[in-house]
Amino acid sequence: MGALLSALLSSIRGGVHPETRKFLSAESPIEPMPIPALLRLPLQQHIGAPAEPLVARDDHVLKGQLIARARGPISANLHAPTSGRVIAVGPFPAPHPSGLPVPTITLRPDGADRWAPRLPRLRPEDAEPEEIAARVAEAGIVGMGGATFPAAVKLTLRDRYRLHTLIINAAECEPYLTCDDRLLRERAEEVADGAGIMARALGVTKIIVAIESNKPAAAAAMRRHNLGLGHPVQVRVVATQYPMGSEKHLVRAVTGRETPARALTAELGIVVHNSATAQAVHLAVRYGEPLLSRVVTVSGRGVARPANVQALLGTPVADLLAHCGGLTEDPDRLLLGGPMMGQPIRSPRVPVVKGTNGVLALTRAETRKAETMPCIRCGACVRACPCGLTPFELNARIQAGDLEGAAAVGLLDCVSCGCCSYICPSNIPLVQGFSFAKGKLAETESRKHQQEETRRLAAARTAREEAIAEAKRAAMARHKAQMAEKKRRAAEEAAQAAEEAPAEPQEAAK
Ligand code: SF4
Ligand code: SF4
Repeated sequence: MGALLSALLSSIRGGVHPETRKFLSAESPIEPMPIPALLRLPLQQHIGAPAEPLVARDDHVLKGQLIARARGPISANLHAPTSGRVIAVGPFPAPHPSGLPVPTITLRPDGADRWAPRLPRLRPEDAEPEEIAARVAEAGIVGMGGATFPAAVKLTLRDRYRLHTLIINAAECEPYLTCDDRLLRERAEEVADGAGIMARALGVTKIIVAIESNKPAAAAAMRRHNLGLGHPVQVRVVATQYPMGSEKHLVRAVTGRETPARALTAELGIVVHNSATAQAVHLAVRYGEPLLSRVVTVSGRGVARPANVQALLGTPVADLLAHCGGLTEDPDRLLLGGPMMGQPIRSPRVPVVKGTNGVLALTRAETRKAETMPCIRCGACVRACPCGLTPFELNARIQAGDLEGAAAVGLLDCVSCGCCSYICPSNIPLVQGFSFAKGKLAETESRKHQQEETRRLAAARTAREEAIAEAKRAAMARHKAQMAEKKRRAAEEAAQAAEEAPAEPQEAAK
């Protein structure tokens, strides 16, 4: 597949072409992993509020049992991936660069893998859209491409937008990752069925599966299984270009239409779901199975036997690495996700969660560790930015401490794809600075919001106190007036009584 063909395919503005290194694991069929000795299940594996635990230490749970319930509309249920005993409900290091402890349920599997009663099967052909969305919510399914937004919420967008198209995102543009490629090659029928079910929930009939040009076997498999609940599933091959898998850029590549900044693709009538999410929806609706496991690519030169494994949620990264033959050397970087947008982790004890599509152990030879030099204003970052931003200017403003100024030139439109850092000849860690600045701005915004809220509450309290004082003053004045009136009447009555009393016969008696 030459660069020429890639160029002829639908592409996106900017972007980069990093070495994909997918060959390390692309030919490794999905293999199931044995049940680990311990599973660590953070209560927050999704965007939104953490789930509320329903189990306590020493409880015995069955596979598929609800162990934490979604808290509010943007949250997700969590189920026991296998049967066993809860040995702790408490803090455990997060699968996040901070490694800070987060509330986590720790389960010791009993090896029996005994199911709780499954959710009743639905016949999606007859199910109402609301029933499908409710099932997806019940099953705890989130965006499995890494976004982890609760999938059911996106399935209710038909209430607010005039939708016409569902795009299944199978671009998988991050280097090394091959889990979606394998899923399509091995379970295309399930992905197509899940897509058809989601299309029914959304009220659309047009389904497009978008696949990068470097996955011809996946595209061929989808062409063989091209019906989703009776609707044709079109395969659209797009250019191999990073970050093709970014939702808005994929929509641009497939339809030629631009999603406005900070708007949803639903405004164009299009909803995008990941291919693994579609397969999870198929299992939840047709078989009543909640989300308990996912396919994870374990790769990098630091892994003895790169592979794609079906891992239970909560499986420690160390177990995945051990299953793949262990490490060949001390890795320079251990990542969850791909090398462009993945999260470095501090310890292999952290678990696989719903959004974990990859575990990478990269050696020193695979990571770029060059000295940072001053910006030479070459403009390469501007050409690479798929969002049309000016990264060197953003960086200059952030370095000068002018976060508001950085926001004014588009900081909040940055999708943190890392193309600018990747291309920069001066090795300036641009995207790291942008992520830091966005975090700071969000913090300032939240502090401002809190201060405004405090001011509003204080003003409301003062107004309440003043109203009470005013009411007291008015009551006092009324009371005084009543007392004065009473006194006046008493005086009047006394005077009248004095007038009416008979005069005493004083002189005559003498
Ligand atoms: S790519 Fe790097 S050196 Fe070139 S303009 Fe951008 S920040 Fe400066
Ligand atoms: S990280 Fe942000 S600024 Fe850099 S290329 Fe991506 S979108 Fe543009």
